[in-house]
Amino acid sequence: KVGSSVRRDLELGEVFIAVKTTRRFHQTRLVLLLDTWISEAKEQTYIFTDEEDKALQKRMGDHVVLTNCSSEHSHPALSCKMAAEFDAFLASGLSWFCHVDDDNYLNPQALLKLLSSYSPAQDVYIGKPSLNRPIRASEMMPNNQTRSVHFWFATGGAGFCISRRLATKMAPWASGSHFLSTSDLIRLPDDCTVGYIIECKLGGRLLPNALFHSHLENLQLISRPQLPEQVTLSYGVFEKKLNTVELSGPFSQQDDPSRFRSLHCLLYPDTGWCPRPVG
Ligand code: UDP
Ligand code: MN
Repeated sequence: KVGSSVRRDLELGEVFIAVKTTRRFHQTRLVLLLDTWISEAKEQTYIFTDEEDKALQKRMGDHVVLTNCSSEHSHPALSCKMAAEFDAFLASGLSWFCHVDDDNYLNPQALLKLLSSYSPAQDVYIGKPSLNRPIRASEMMPNNQTRSVHFWFATGGAGFCISRRLATKMAPWASGSHFLSTSDLIRLPDDCTVGYIIECKLGGRLLPNALFHSHLENLQLISRPQLPEQVTLSYGVFEKKLNTVELSGPFSQQDDPSRFRSLHCLLYPDTGWCPRPVG
């Protein structure tokens, strides 16, 4: 039974964490992540971006990957970054590939707890389904005809993980320039392309998991006692309002609009910049 028994003590050192970002978000988004969860998983975390940034390189060293991808929000530009993440993971030799966006808080301990129920030697694709049904797409065929395909995919904005065994099988469609040509076949974004490769090309299945969250769901619905168990969280605009997890402190809305600093102090109260608990 997959997922029901703890295999052995999985260590963070076996996990490759890829963060997708772009130059204009280095100051506005990435610094917040570096100050919070990345500081607890620095050895395992790689930043995929599009332009050089001396300050970032000073903090993360060779864990900053300059992708040569364009800094547009276009399908090809984003697929180019996903391909770079995927290739770096394959080259790393590590057991698990986990992708997050630069507006995600990733809880390393919750991630380890989740992944230790699975084996990297099985085919595992886990994350939050983007829709409550499979997506339909037209797949371009070699003879220029199209066929209708449908598949589930994990929304990139909530983060997802893939086992090494599955990633190895994906390589013919996902490595190097193949990722871009694959995404061209269905003309959908990078996270859809990952689901398409796994479900349509390899016959795999997305394991839906409720511990991954994007800002396209109401984050206020997660109760405070549940927060430490969540693998990813996010913040951003949803239905024209700022959508964040609900935490009354220790930081004010003004000082911590994303609530990530407050969340980090809940998870790691001994952090230098967290207020000392009274008593
Ligand atoms: N992103 C990027 N290049 C761009 C725009 C966005 O690499 O031109 C990245 C961004 O850093 C983030 C992800 O794509 O990691 C999603 O972007 P965003 O949160 O702005 O958009 P959403 O899809 O959540 O509306
Ligand atoms: Mn986002």
